[in-house]
Amino acid sequence: MKIVSTIAGLRAQDRDRRRPRVLVPTMGALHAGHVSLIRLARQHAGPEGEVAVSIFVNPLQFEPGADFERYPRPEKADEEVCRAEGVDLLFRPSPNEMYGEDRSTLVEETVLSERLCGASRPGHFHGVCTVVTKLFHLLEPEAAVFGEKDFQQLAVVRRMVRDLDFVIKIIAAPIVRDPDGLAMSSRNQYLNPEERAQAPVIRRALLAAAQSQEKPAAAVLARVRGTIESAPLARIDYAEIVGADDLQPRLTIEPRTLLAVAVFFGRTRLIDNILLA
Ligand code: AMP
Repeated sequence: MKIVSTIAGLRAQDRDRRRPRVLVPTMGALHAGHVSLIRLARQHAGPEGEVAVSIFVNPLQFEPGADFERYPRPEKADEEVCRAEGVDLLFRPSPNEMYGEDRSTLVEETVLSERLCGASRPGHFHGVCTVVTKLFHLLEPEAAVFGEKDFQQLAVVRRMVRDLDFVIKIIAAPIVRDPDGLAMSSRNQYLNPEERAQAPVIRRALLAAAQSQEKPAAAVLARVRGTIESAPLARIDYAEIVGADDLQPRLTIEPRTLLAVAVFFGRTRLIDNILLA
């Protein structure tokens, strides 16, 4: 596995263009969710192709006061995961390498980014779009894998790729969960034991909503809120029912309707989603 931490190092590589490259962008602290993305990338790249993983805790996508400083950065363990999974290239730049002090260009998607996480985390998605654009230019993959756990991110990236004519196929990977249903996340390690014990309420609320036959979105949301709020340590940031493609609110449950939630346990914000129909 090649490990590259500079842009010059990437450019100096003697890349074999006949080998398709599939990129998995991450912020590291790799867990089984990331591993599933890496395996999907390998399936798409084929045995002769190249799987590239980027690990970059992107300061641009953390709003002021968020967890940028304390975000976990277990470099050695991450490297081991990548080696064990047969990753060909690990790109692990520093913030200074990615952003010059006088940078003044941002990439912004302006419609799908507005609601849900975009409303709670101002600037988050232009941070995502800017870094993903840079990674696409630097690594020039044929395809890139993104997890459905970050459903809005996936939609925003797809829209950006369409609007800006990137010739890169975006592959969606299903959500990987702990046995009790909690969606895996690098942030789960912030949870204390009581918070961790209560966090699976999110999945229970989403599953109950998907199984109910109720059609009015308001009724479904009221039940979801009630279930999540029955956990004393849970504080809902948002719970919304939107179209899975346009991310705009829906009043009734119809085909391709998504229920998306963000819930705080203490300072830790967890997100999850489920397709209702
Ligand atoms: P992150 O390192 O949290 O920025 O995530 C990097 C990529 O892994 C994103 O495309 C996420 O959607 C995806 N991902 C993170 N957690 C999971 C999970 N539990 N299941 C599937 N994909 C995930």
